[in-house]
Amino acid sequence: MFKIIVATKNKGKLKEIKNILSDIPVRIIHITQDNGTIEEDGNTYIENALKKAKYYAEKYRMPALADDSGLEIDALKGAPGIHSARFMGEGTSFDSKIQEILRLMENTSERNARFRCVAVLYIPSEGKYYTTEGVVEGEILREPHKKEGSGFGYDPIFKPAGYNESFSTLGEEIKNQISHRSIALRKMKDIILNEVLGGSMTEIKINGVKLAANSYVYTVFEKVILALLDTLNNIPEIQTIEIKIDKTRHKEKIV
Ligand code: IMP
Repeated sequence: MFKIIVATKNKGKLKEIKNILSDIPVRIIHITQDNGTIEEDGNTYIENALKKAKYYAEKYRMPALADDSGLEIDALKGAPGIHSARFMGEGTSFDSKIQEILRLMENTSERNARFRCVAVLYIPSEGKYYTTEGVVEGEILREPHKKEGSGFGYDPIFKPAGYNESFSTLGEEIKNQISHRSIALRKMKDIILNEVLGGSMTEIKINGVKLAANSYVYTVFEKVILALLDTLNNIPEIQTIEIKIDKTRHKEKIV
């Protein structure tokens, strides 16, 4: 089974990652983030996420998945953005951060904002990485709408477009379906299936008709299809079987 390290202190994030990747053949290995080892001091989300993924991938010699995210508020010229966690100092409570944002936006009707998340999967054996991005548009409420025990960070003041509630009062189930992080992770799931785990068989045509399957299905059934070739050969109705192999794909990268 393909193993992926996820280093995080955030239990909600771990649960969300496990949930999204639960139906593909990967095993998530959770390790507690080394405190203070990695400073998220890059100028972009990718830089921060890559730094984190690369550090853990190289330390444990295993593919590692990391993400970085932030809240971008148009009226504040994109702030707090990549500084979302450090806004007003890492130790400042989110209640205080929220109050400060609401104060800065007191006199403006420009409320547009978005959460952005960048995920990075680093494969140490190849020195290669994959990156995806998820964005959820919305607006900043005039006061916090908070449901105890639901959501975190800036959730109480962010209302996603198309909904009438904040990320906090919407509840985790809905939030996790539409959030920036879930969009980035779902895209990463497709990459894992099609690029990382992908086998070498990319197309099968029988009597000139292409089998309607994606590369993941081909990957899963590759051995079965090859094993069945003799049997298929004996079926008179089947005149031709064409199999397209992508020679650039290496299966030995599966760990
Ligand atoms: P991280 O990259 O996921 O650690 O997020 C960085 C910071 O962005 C967090 O400390 C939060 O302040 C903010 N943030 C990211 N995602 C969310 C979210 O889903 N809800 C609320 N705040 C978030």
